[in-house]
Amino acid sequence: MKYVSTRGSTPKQSFEDVLLSGLARDGGLFVPDAWPQMSAEDIRALAPLSYAEIVTRIVRPFIEVELVGDADLARIVEQAYSGFRHPEIAPLQQLDEDTWVLELFHGPTLAFKDFALQLLGVLFDHVLGQRGERLTIVGATSGDTGSAAIEACRDRANLDIFMLFPEGRVSEVQRRQMTTVTSENVYNVALRGTFDDCQDLVKAMFADHPLRDLLGLSAVNSINWARVMGQTAYYFVAAARMGAPDARLSFFVPTGNFGNVYAGYVARQMGLPIEKFVVASNRNDILYRFFDQGDMSITDVEPSLSPSMDIQISSNFERLMFDLMDRDGAAVAAAMQAFRAEGSLPDSARLSADAKGLFLAQRLDDEETLDVIRSVHDDTGMLIDPHTAVAVGAARKTPRDGTRRIVLATAHPAKFPDAVEKATGIRPALPPHLADLLERPERAETLDNDFQTVRDYVVAHATARTAS
Ligand SMILES: *Cc1c(COP(=O)(O)O)cnc(C)c1O
Repeated sequence: MKYVSTRGSTPKQSFEDVLLSGLARDGGLFVPDAWPQMSAEDIRALAPLSYAEIVTRIVRPFIEVELVGDADLARIVEQAYSGFRHPEIAPLQQLDEDTWVLELFHGPTLAFKDFALQLLGVLFDHVLGQRGERLTIVGATSGDTGSAAIEACRDRANLDIFMLFPEGRVSEVQRRQMTTVTSENVYNVALRGTFDDCQDLVKAMFADHPLRDLLGLSAVNSINWARVMGQTAYYFVAAARMGAPDARLSFFVPTGNFGNVYAGYVARQMGLPIEKFVVASNRNDILYRFFDQGDMSITDVEPSLSPSMDIQISSNFERLMFDLMDRDGAAVAAAMQAFRAEGSLPDSARLSADAKGLFLAQRLDDEETLDVIRSVHDDTGMLIDPHTAVAVGAARKTPRDGTRRIVLATAHPAKFPDAVEKATGIRPALPPHLADLLERPERAETLDNDFQTVRDYVVAHATARTAS
């Protein structure tokens, strides 16, 4: 298996290159040059397997055997999911007659990002150990991604991680999930600035080539192919549990960067019979406008009750676009350039029409989101988080079509206690392993929003430079 860039002017790469470099040099995203295929028999054979066994089968064709042998891969996957707190890893709960919720929040940080990042962390460490190299991960976060990345990298022998977050601008639970991790290779930086300032500093560090080489800078952001791969597996798991390939299925996905729903699309390209994906958006509805009205134009990002979906430019969408444009990298590059320059995607009506058979979209505002949280609690006793509620609401707005409907629950309700309490009057409790989170000591370095200051801090603490 080789990987090509969605912008077409990077030579084909191995999984190893794609894992370690993240983004292609031409600015594109990596995708496999062909989709591995699972036959109906292969899919039927998944049903009795454990979560880790299914993941191992799904990701095997994407990773060279010379890089990770079969025994190592099974061990890596086993280790990646060993920190999840539910025996089924991703359990299904029935919501009503034809709707199920797939709980993707039993990982260490209570959000679905753990599924991809836990696997990525172990894979990185394995590959780096084999190469005798160390890497320095730097990232900026406004919430969920930071803690999931830290949990994935903590205590790994060949990695240091530096996470920048805007001081005073992330929720207390989100901050504490980062700052209470006291592993020696984890550095939390509370920046006197905004999330955009954090992101600009990280970009400036990557643009500083001497620094990049000195420290072996790398990222674990959502454009890394390995993250998509790690998420594709739970679509197979859920489908197998629901009777695939002999059942008709549709998925409802709370969407921001388009990484989660794209992973489902990959499962379908691999042969999993999924009839429909419903992209669920909050008031930041650029994807809704694309799929529903054939228009993709950027507006301002507005804060909502589902902050992890407060996004206007969904980076992984480019991967779908690549297929919608018949894998013509030059055409994708030109379209993305126009999109960035003009704020509107050329030819989006045609692309949207091509996507329509498979993708639908729905949108919920904050009021509707609270109504869904309330009514799900009234009807079933379940507490759901606001991101999950947007997808449940999307399912309610979509006419039933005889498919079994699977809604992805992307965060634990206790991660967003204010919204849940506002809707139901009940403040959801953190699960036992985090119950004392609010009492644990915190560790973070507060730094000024100044490139030299942050650069000096990273250079002084990263251990990669001494190893090389
Ligand atoms: C990141 C995130 C999303 C959005 O997922 P994408 O892959 O970016 O579309 C939805 N819900 C939660 C809780 C998240 O953390």
